[in-house]
Amino acid sequence: MAFRKVQYFSKTFAACELKRCLSQEAIRNGFAGMVGRTPLVRLNKFSAETGCEILAKAEFANGGGSVKDRAALYLIQQAQKDGQLKPGGTVVEGTAGNTGIGLAHICRALGYKCVIYMPNNQSQEKIDLLKVLGADVRPVPPCPFTDPNNYNHQAARFAASIENAVWTNQFDNTANRLAHIEMTGPEIWQDTNGKVDAVTFGTGTGGTLAGVGTYLKEKNKNVQVVLADPEGSVLYNFIKNGKLERTDGSSITEGIGQGRVTKNLEGAPIDDALAIRDTDAVENTFRLLYEEGFFCGASTGLNITAAVQTARLLGPGHTVVTCMCDVGQRYYAKLFSKDFLESKGLLEAVPEQYRANLH
Ligand code: PMP
Repeated sequence: MAFRKVQYFSKTFAACELKRCLSQEAIRNGFAGMVGRTPLVRLNKFSAETGCEILAKAEFANGGGSVKDRAALYLIQQAQKDGQLKPGGTVVEGTAGNTGIGLAHICRALGYKCVIYMPNNQSQEKIDLLKVLGADVRPVPPCPFTDPNNYNHQAARFAASIENAVWTNQFDNTANRLAHIEMTGPEIWQDTNGKVDAVTFGTGTGGTLAGVGTYLKEKNKNVQVVLADPEGSVLYNFIKNGKLERTDGSSITEGIGQGRVTKNLEGAPIDDALAIRDTDAVENTFRLLYEEGFFCGASTGLNITAAVQTARLLGPGHTVVTCMCDVGQRYYAKLFSKDFLESKGLLEAVPEQYRANLH
C-alpha cells in the first residue's frame, strides 16, 4: 500500500514537472518570449573535419532573426525600469541594422515608436525590413565615431531633442552585455552540461563576447574566450599588443569590427584574438549554406572560421561554441550576389562547385 502511494506521488510529480517544462518551452509569451532559448546546433561537417565539437547557437531563431534581439530586449526593459521610457514613447538607436530590427519588433509589441539611424552603406534589405516594421529609418553617410555626424551621435542628439524618447545606446549601455550574462551564457552552459572549452565571437558592440565570456569564466575559468576580428578592425591589435591600430584591409561583414573599446567590451575576460580574412569568412558562409544547410550572413562565416581555427589550436576532443548571428536573406544583393562579390575580389572565395548558384 505504502509502495503504491509513493508511486502515485512520484507520477504526479513527474506530470507537474512536465507541465512546467511545456509551459516554459512550448508556449512563449509574446515577442519577448521569442527572444532567447535558441537551439545549440552541432555543425557536423566542421566537427568531423576538426575532430572537435563545433557548436553554434542558432541566433537567427530569435523572433527578429538575429543575436541582437537579446540586446534590444534588455535595452528596452532597462529604459522602462529606469523610467526613461514611458507609454507611447520613442526608442532611438544608432545601429548597423540588426539591433534596430530587434528594437522595431519589440516597439511594435509594446506600443513604442522607433527611430533608427544607420550608416547608408549597410544592406538595403535591412533598411527595407525596418521600413516594413514601421520604424522611421534615417540612413546617414558613414563616418568615424570621433565625427559628430557619426550615426550614434545623431541618434543621441535626436532623442534629446524630442519628448519622451530614449537613446538606447547599445554600444556603451551595459544592459546589452547583461542580456548575454543572464541569457546566452547560461544557455550555453546548460546545453553543453558545462562541457565547453572555448567560445569565439566577432564583435560589434562587444555585448555577446563580453557577456558570454563573463558568465562562462565565472563557471569555469579555463574556458577560452576568443575574439574573432574582421579586416580593418582595431580589436585584434588591442588584444594582442594593447594598441588600437587597425589591421590591413576592410571587410564586407556587416555588424562587426570596431574602432574603439566600447563600454560593453571594457574589462571583458578575453584570452586571445584571431584576425579573420574576408576570403575565409565568405568561403565558410557558403560552406555553411551548402554543406550544413544554414543560410546566414558573413559574420556567421567569420565566427565559424574562428571556431575551426580555435578547434585546430586546441586539438581533437574539445568543444568550441560560436554563433550563427543572423539570416542570409538580409544580404541577397551583396554577399549572395555574383556582381558584388566580383567587385570586391571575393568571387574566388566561394568554393567553385557553389558558384553556379550565384546570379
Ligand atoms: N553579427 C551581426 C550580423 C551583427 O549585426 C552584430 C551586431 N552588430 C554582431 C554579429 C555582433 O554582436 P555584438 O554587438 O554583440 O558584438
